Formats: sequence, C-alpha cells, structure tokens
Amino acid sequence: MAQATPLFETYNRIPLRFERGEGVWLITEDGERYLDFAAGIAVNALGHSHPHLVETLKTQGEKLWHLSNLYESPGQEQLAERLTANTFADKVFFTNSGAEALECAIKTARRYQFAKGHPERFHIITFEGAFHGRTLATIAAGGQAKYLEGFGPKAPGFDQVPFGDLDAVKAAITEATAGILIEPVQGEGGIRSASPEFLRALRGLCYEHGLLLIFDEVQCGVGRTGKLFAYEWPGIAPDIMAVAKGIGGGFPLGACLATAEAASGMIAGTHGTTYGGNPLAMAIGNAVLDVVLEEGFLQHVGDVALVFRQGLASLKDRFPDIIEDVRGEGLMLGVKARVPSGELLMAMRDQHILGVLAGDNVIRLLPPLTTTAEEAREGLARIERAAGKLQQENLKKSA
Ligand SMILES: *Cc1c(COP(=O)(O)O)cnc(C)c1O
Repeated sequence: MAQATPLFETYNRIPLRFERGEGVWLITEDGERYLDFAAGIAVNALGHSHPHLVETLKTQGEKLWHLSNLYESPGQEQLAERLTANTFADKVFFTNSGAEALECAIKTARRYQFAKGHPERFHIITFEGAFHGRTLATIAAGGQAKYLEGFGPKAPGFDQVPFGDLDAVKAAITEATAGILIEPVQGEGGIRSASPEFLRALRGLCYEHGLLLIFDEVQCGVGRTGKLFAYEWPGIAPDIMAVAKGIGGGFPLGACLATAEAASGMIAGTHGTTYGGNPLAMAIGNAVLDVVLEEGFLQHVGDVALVFRQGLASLKDRFPDIIEDVRGEGLMLGVKARVPSGELLMAMRDQHILGVLAGDNVIRLLPPLTTTAEEAREGLARIERAAGKLQQENLKKSA
C-alpha cells in the first residue's frame, strides 16, 4: 500500500525523486541519471538548467516578480510583439497555463459572435481524442468521459465529432456554431496528426460559415514540430491559437493569440487574470524565444527529428512484436506499442530513459528541442535494449 500522503491522491506517481537536471538529463537524489524524453510533458523545451534561462530568472528575480495587470507591462508588450511578428496573430493575452489559454480562446470565439449580434452562436465543434485541459470548460471541450465523470453537468456548447471526419464536421455545423477547435497534432490522444488537407478544409468551412478556427498548440507549438507553430505545415492560419507548455520552458506561462478581428469582442473588463503575464513569466518567455528564434534552431529540431525517425523505424522493423508503429512530427514522437504501452515504458525506465504515456497504446517521446544527435542516438540505444529485454521475456513466457 502507498504511504499516507498529505497530497490529493489525484496522481499515480512514479517512485522516482529527482533533485536536479542538466540539459536532457535528470538526476535523482541518489545520483542516478535518466535521459529525460518526457521533458515535463513537452514543457522543458530547452532542457533543464539552460544557462540563458537560469541567468534570466536570477536577474529578473532581483528586480520585479509580480505586478498584477493594473499597470502597463513592457515585458508583455515585448513578448506579444515578438509572438505577433512571428505568427498570424495581431493580439495576445497571457495566462499561467494551457487550460487558461484555452478558456481565453473559447471565450474570445464566443464573445466575437456575441459582439457581431449572434449571442446564440456559442457552440464549439471539437474532436474525439482531444485534450484541452482540466477546467470545467476544457473537460467539456475534450469530451473524455473519464475526465467528466462525477463533476456535475458537462458545460454546454461543445459538439464532438470523430478526428479527421470532414462530413461529420459539416453535419455538426448549425446556426449555433461559433467555431471549430482542434489540436493540429493530438498529444494526449496518442500523437495523431490531422492531415494538411483536413486542416485546410476546416479553414474553408470556417470562412464559408463565419466561424472562428481555433488551434490548440499548447503541446505542438513553440518549435516542437520543427516549425515555430504547427499551423505553418498545412500553410493556413487559425483565427485564434492557444499556446503554453514550451513557451515558458518550465515557468508556468500560456498565451492566447488571435487576429485583431477575432479578438474584437474582448473589450476592457471582459476578461482578466491576477498572475497572467507577470514580469518574471515575461522575462522567461522572452528568454525562451531568444533561443527558439535563433537562426538555425528550428533546422536543428528537424535534423535531430530525422535521427529519431530513422532510428525508431529501424527499431520497429527489428522488434515488430514490441513496436507496432512510429508517428508524429518533429520532436513530438509517438511509439505505438504492440505490448501494453505501460510495459514498454517500464522497460525503458529500467534503461534510465523517460517518456510519457498517451492514448491509443502510445508512448510519447518529447525530448528537449536542444537534444543533440548524439543524445538522440543514446536514447535510441536505450529503447533498443528495453525492446530487446521485453522480447526475450515474451519469448520465455510463450515457450
Ligand atoms: C497540456 C495541454 C493542455 C492543458 O495545459 P495545462 O497547462 O495542463 O492546463 C491543453 N491542451 C493541450 C493540447 C495540452 O497538451
């Protein structure tokens, strides 16, 4: 039995106690080193203890941590200017988390329709397998029964259809629809990419029906797929986009980006946050962008992703009874297991390499974007040993 704990028992925690991190490595209290391809669930985009982030935290920490949004914020203006200069967006609202960025995105879409004289248009079309956070609205948007059960009536206004099913989307559009919300690459759902054709078709439907296209790039954004944002791959742009995770590099930070038109309903007094966009968060968000926007950084992500793709494809060929499929974009990779994914993840942990479980029997590999080709090969060698051990055990069992 687990020991009594003063914590809410909402997590099944892995019995590892990490004390510090260095780049792609995590080090336990006992000094054991683990290759961290979970990266705080795609949050530690620059790995652990990145010198530029540490320096920024120390410098800003001695100046100003928190102000509230009662005053002007040069840090917010600077980060918003850089985000809008590098994306489709004209406007940014800063939050502390992904779910709050989604809440802002949903409110922005509903408020846009309201301001256009359509208060009845508040429904958002979402997709099966989605994950948008754990607030009351975002569990309704995600639509997963296991996250909704026991929390009272599901928040109204979310209509879910199968991922990638254009006819179902068309059928779900009514006079009450405000927008369509999608992760271009589903994370929790098992690293499932929407096809470029599907995303382009959603863009067309939104124009046709006066709907707002909302992308949840909380996990796939900020360089993760090899572009600054995943919407760049299909060559279209959403109207609203939720960002978090990698943008803070480990500091709690999220953002809701929108075109000026989409944000036009969000006038003074309609939305707010106490902590969102505080000076400490802004300093670190700006420091993350210093690195991610450097010449050649995204090229590096693409190059290392290729090492992973080739290595994982070869492991799939060599261990077909363990690995069924390899998928994903850039450094947002999914290994679909043939055995229960928890068993493979455990075998990997025995080799001191960390990943994250996802839906569809998939293990997510979300290495820091700063991972080198050599570190990628070290990781592949560890996954190979894990798969080899599992295969031996399975042979023994069936003998
Ligand atoms: C993690 C995640 C969220 C929620 O972010 P939190 O910071 O946990 O609130 C929302 N959408 C996607 C795609 C995510 O991966």
